[in-house]
Amino acid sequence: MTNFDSIPATARGVIHIDLGKLASNWQSLGRAVLPARCAAVVKANAYGTGVNRAIPALLKTGCQSFFVATIDEAKTARALAPESAIFVLDGLLPGSETALTDINAVPVLSSLAEIEDWSAYARKIGAHLPAAFHVDTGLNRLGMPAEDVRALAGSGTLLEKLNVYLVMSHLASADDSEDAKNASQLAVFDGLLPLLPTVATSIAASDGLMLGKSYHGQLVRPGYALYGGQASPAHAAPVEPVVTVHARVLQVRDVATGQTVGYSATYQANEPRRIATVAAGYADGVPRSASAASGETGGMVAFDGQRAPIVGRVSMDLITVDITDLANADAVTRGSWAELIGPTITLEDAGAAAGTIGYEILTSLSPRFHRIYSGEDTIRQ
Ligand SMILES: *Cc1c(COP(=O)(O)O)cnc(C)c1O
Repeated sequence: MTNFDSIPATARGVIHIDLGKLASNWQSLGRAVLPARCAAVVKANAYGTGVNRAIPALLKTGCQSFFVATIDEAKTARALAPESAIFVLDGLLPGSETALTDINAVPVLSSLAEIEDWSAYARKIGAHLPAAFHVDTGLNRLGMPAEDVRALAGSGTLLEKLNVYLVMSHLASADDSEDAKNASQLAVFDGLLPLLPTVATSIAASDGLMLGKSYHGQLVRPGYALYGGQASPAHAAPVEPVVTVHARVLQVRDVATGQTVGYSATYQANEPRRIATVAAGYADGVPRSASAASGETGGMVAFDGQRAPIVGRVSMDLITVDITDLANADAVTRGSWAELIGPTITLEDAGAAAGTIGYEILTSLSPRFHRIYSGEDTIRQ
């Protein structure tokens, strides 16, 4: 539970990140996929939770491999994790060779062109360089198509100077275990593996690892689940929430029948309503699509475990919520804390209510809210 007594009086909102839960989530996912190993995806500032705190917590509990998206993220990760394997999903941007070798990061190479450049650089400096290969099996986003894999296998020389650590692919529809695309991607992957160096394989992210053993390879790559997210609607991952977000009530007002609330007057009270104005808006990560015109359902907040709907437009700094029907509406006053994410409103709830997903909610957490971290002392190997 967030201890509100410790929050500065000036804070409009508070994000509480339980690093103990982050570490225990990594442990639980790791146990679920044994004998495969578990990496941690810490791109986008550890999904908004704060990479400066997330990586040390994950290291303390025994995580040895990290995935980031960008080279800049890899630099930050390297400073925090001097000994770990750091995989860069963007791969090799043209001209970024030295930036990668300076920090001993492993580019996840997604095309023959990237492999040629990386291999040429290895020759130029007369050293072997680490690499991971990304094979496309049907997502058509990043990864080598089958013809690149065949060309690579036939090249003879391209692999000479590379220490390949990992061959990976990424699934398109792993959040739906019934989707036939999962098995067809796995079959494409298995069909291409004999053409590639015999090294560890990796296919599954948070959702994919719930598809069962055949999808684990030797290394799984969860991100969202580590931070308490449930990526797969039908298969609950063995993880607990990590992030709790609250914002302050700035004002409570009674709105008479016929009055409207918010920009463009999209909500009109058809009976007397009590409205709380909460210090969180789209600049704080409440999507504007969580707005609710009269008769629509949008986002929500919670007080004391009871939900109160957003009414009217979400604006940059503020939302207006209807607290009329709360059992204890009188307890909501100036300075009260509204739960935006927490035990009553999950990341998935907040995402669905705004027509998006919990991932986007998590990675948009407010830069304007006070942050507290807890649970580091509970982390075990
Ligand atoms: C972001 C990402 C992951 C992690 O995905 P989650 O769904 O957050 O677990 C894994 N692999 C790749 C290639 C990614 O881009």
